[in-house]
Amino acid sequence: MARTTLKLIAAVAMLAGAWTAAKAADNAPAIRVTLLGSGTPTPRPDIFSMSTLVEAGDQKLVFDLGRGSTIRLYQKKIPLGAVTAHFITHLHSDHIVGLPDMWMTGWIGTPWGSRKTPMVVFGPRGTVAMTENLTRAFAEDIRIRTEDEHFPAAGIAFDATDIVAGPVYDKGGVKVTAFEVNHGEHIRPAYGYMVEYAGHKVVLSGDTRYDERVANAAKGADLLIHEVSVIEPELIQARPEYRAIADHHTSPEEAGRIFSIANPKLAVYSHIVFAGVKPIQDVPVEALTTRTESTYRGPFMIGADLMSFAIGDKVEAFGPDGAALKPLMAGQ
Ligand SMILES: [Zn+2]
Ligand SMILES: [Zn+2]
Repeated sequence: MARTTLKLIAAVAMLAGAWTAAKAADNAPAIRVTLLGSGTPTPRPDIFSMSTLVEAGDQKLVFDLGRGSTIRLYQKKIPLGAVTAHFITHLHSDHIVGLPDMWMTGWIGTPWGSRKTPMVVFGPRGTVAMTENLTRAFAEDIRIRTEDEHFPAAGIAFDATDIVAGPVYDKGGVKVTAFEVNHGEHIRPAYGYMVEYAGHKVVLSGDTRYDERVANAAKGADLLIHEVSVIEPELIQARPEYRAIADHHTSPEEAGRIFSIANPKLAVYSHIVFAGVKPIQDVPVEALTTRTESTYRGPFMIGADLMSFAIGDKVEAFGPDGAALKPLMAGQ
């Protein structure tokens, strides 16, 4: 019996050890980016909605909190409570449905939760109101877990800010700047973000139509993460409401033009909108690639959940299994 107990304690200790931060290797990249969700509102089990993790120095920043962002962080063995700050591009639900999960589940006192300080959230006008309303919506769970499990009150508080374009965050040498993008006249403001650390730069377009403000922010960037939309013309003809969806996003040809102006070391598509005549099918990679290459001759990739990027002297890409990936390149 005693031996079993000891074994159990050892197993629990090992499990807890797996969740502590691994010591950074000497040749560690300056910035590591992981696509936690690369999709859209479509409730696919393999492609979650938008969320991106950017790790730089001692900062772990998450941009957008789409469906399943908690699950992807769990797969990465990153405790939800270890995320330093959260940034929202705009308040469409596919970018925030994971926020209540991150907030509530991250508070639970386990190796994968354990937030003990307020959840830091930056987002467009309406973000603070959303956090206040969520606090009201989940009041009963907060009461129960406070009285029953004695989780710290600070861990379920929000430290939320409605931002304007410009510098929004500067901590541990990591600077985050928001810039406005054009996601349609009813979705203002919508933001893209620029992250700078140790002479390196990562830019996230957010959801946007063709907007050269993204290209300007991404000039000289190591990595440009851009949305894209492929909607089959036959579908738009049959169902005109898809024209409105296409009008809120960037076509592959337009994205290629943005990449050509920005000339990043690597561009990657995430938030890949796809709608075809057949209701359920995969993104047509070949069409996406060919259409991008018609306006861009540099390196790019088609993102997938848990694809990651190591940014140092060079930019390296890895698949969900950790295997190195080669970027696509026009004419090669
Ligand atoms: Zn949107
Ligand atoms: Zn979206």
